[in-house]
Amino acid sequence: MPDSPDDPHGHDESRKRLMPNCEEVHHLTMKGMDQPLSWTERARVRMHLVICHACTNFSGQMRLMRAAMRSLGQQEPNERKDD
Ligand SMILES: [Zn+2]
Repeated sequence: MPDSPDDPHGHDESRKRLMPNCEEVHHLTMKGMDQPLSWTERARVRMHLVICHACTNFSGQMRLMRAAMRSLGQQEPNERKDD
């Protein structure tokens, strides 16, 4: 069948790669907390954040949380007061 309507490469897949859904953006956001994302992953997240306020909020909250956790981790009892 030369004219098979079913494309073996899958148009859906390529469309999904162009525009990630919320689930993937959440996944990438959390992944980015542990390790640096590739520029393609960042680009896809950014592209999605432009059109999705929910994920913009989510990303912002994750950033806040990370900042808070960092500041907690940095509060080591290092400062001695030699009074
Ligand atoms: Zn979203």
